[in-house]
Amino acid sequence: MRLVLLGPPGAGKGTQARMLEIKLQAPQIASGDLLRAAVRKRTALGLHAKAFMDKGALVPDELVLGMIEERLSQPDAQSGFILDGFPRTVAQAEVLGSMLARRKERLDKVVAIMVPDEEIVKRISGRRTCRVCGAMYHVIYDPPRNMNMCNKCNGELYQREDDAEDTVRARVQVYASSTSPLLDYYGQSGLLAKIHGIGRAEEIERRILSALGID
Ligand code: AMP
Repeated sequence: MRLVLLGPPGAGKGTQARMLEIKLQAPQIASGDLLRAAVRKRTALGLHAKAFMDKGALVPDELVLGMIEERLSQPDAQSGFILDGFPRTVAQAEVLGSMLARRKERLDKVVAIMVPDEEIVKRISGRRTCRVCGAMYHVIYDPPRNMNMCNKCNGELYQREDDAEDTVRARVQVYASSTSPLLDYYGQSGLLAKIHGIGRAEEIERRILSALGID
């Protein structure tokens, strides 16, 4: 299954992608995670990307496209993938289409997780991520057993720098102006399913699976 998950920041794309990896037997490919790993490793790409990420702006295509193409060419992505955070613009979607066409592949589905703007800031500002395994929590909606410690691996929980309120507002605006046009783009190609993004993670997973025709 070659799947794209669309949705504003904080819609739950990362949580859902990780849950779906097992059912779909396909790896999550999250552009934001790849960029954060490059920032941590202080690669040239990471150092360049960081300034954009800290502002909540999109990282330029010349940094993102090569990184995604390389990831898609790895063995575990040959029979399917779950793209999370990419594409973020119509231009990126067009490049993705050409990358896949060169490999005689195409997307099977695009699922958009729809969440209203006012919900997003509330969700993201309480979000905490495990530094070790990447598990995500919310201080109110899904608190860890011990504050600052991951239930799964005891790793340290942290708040992403770009999850601070001002940056979240910038990211929401970027989504509205640059990413939401993808809803029309994929709507026209007949690949899009929109699902309601409010509810427990398991309910949302069920909605996605039913949009994919898997029950
Ligand atoms: P995310 O983890 O998907 O919320 O992404 C975090 C940040 O990484 C975004 O705010 C952007 O600065 C950058 N980013 C992630 N994916 C992309 C992309 N496809 N194109 C441009 N910038 C991206």
